[in-house]
Amino acid sequence: QRQPPVLAVTDLTVRYGKVHALTVPELKVAPGAIVTVIGANGAGKSTMLNAIMGSLPRNGRASGSVRYQNDQIEHWGVEHRVAQGLALVPEKRELFGSMSVEDNLLLGGFRRYRAGERQWRDSMDEVFTLFPRLKERRQQMAGTLSGGERQMLAVGRALMSKPSVLMLDEPSLGLAPRIVREIFHIIAGLRATGVATLLVEQNARAALQVADYGYVLEAGAVSLEGPAHELRDNPAVIESYLGLG
Ligand code: ATP
Repeated sequence: QRQPPVLAVTDLTVRYGKVHALTVPELKVAPGAIVTVIGANGAGKSTMLNAIMGSLPRNGRASGSVRYQNDQIEHWGVEHRVAQGLALVPEKRELFGSMSVEDNLLLGGFRRYRAGERQWRDSMDEVFTLFPRLKERRQQMAGTLSGGERQMLAVGRALMSKPSVLMLDEPSLGLAPRIVREIFHIIAGLRATGVATLLVEQNARAALQVADYGYVLEAGAVSLEGPAHELRDNPAVIESYLGLG
């Protein structure tokens, strides 16, 4: 992480009502890097992404510093964050089930579409290059896609806004091992597009395999951080998150 970070979080805390949910002293994402945050159920992973995106539930309150490129963005609304290049694929993929694959992508890129059909087509072609499966199914209703295809569509839709930082909330959730491998292969391939990825995962093995750098979140606090290959060899990580084999 030598270059100045594209995203830097400092002293971020989140509360839900009176309940303290998260403390992150520092988290940085270098341009084009893949950074992962691993942790068990309820560790605060979704809370962290929603705080960065400005999309916490109504009872959630964040404080601290979120710096994106050269701006302090903690007071920006979600729409503005999206317009400036932050994108989040939420855990519940939130697709429009009764609309086609193509129309779901179109909605992800509507800002670009307004800028001219040409750019929109170019973005869509890039997404179809990353996900040939979506191209084959462009007219199919999103609600009839398989779990893996739906995840691809959710990532593709987020990419339509041409983000500089893509945040993924447990992309492997509920998917069969073969599909998980496919999704992680695609995440690794995102590196070539220049987008930085902040990947939140319970599947620590797969996440640490693909990431450059990692953070371990336990009960709302960062307990460990380091280059992903070091975390993979760390006995505490192996025992708690990687199991045997
Ligand atoms: P999971 O993998 O199960 O989604 P997570 O690591 O993403 O877990 P969060 O969803 O961020 O964890 O939840 C962190 C903690 O905050 C949990 O104890 C959860 O119950 C609590 N929490 C989350 N959302 C709210 C809310 N709107 N109001 C009150 N508490 C909440």
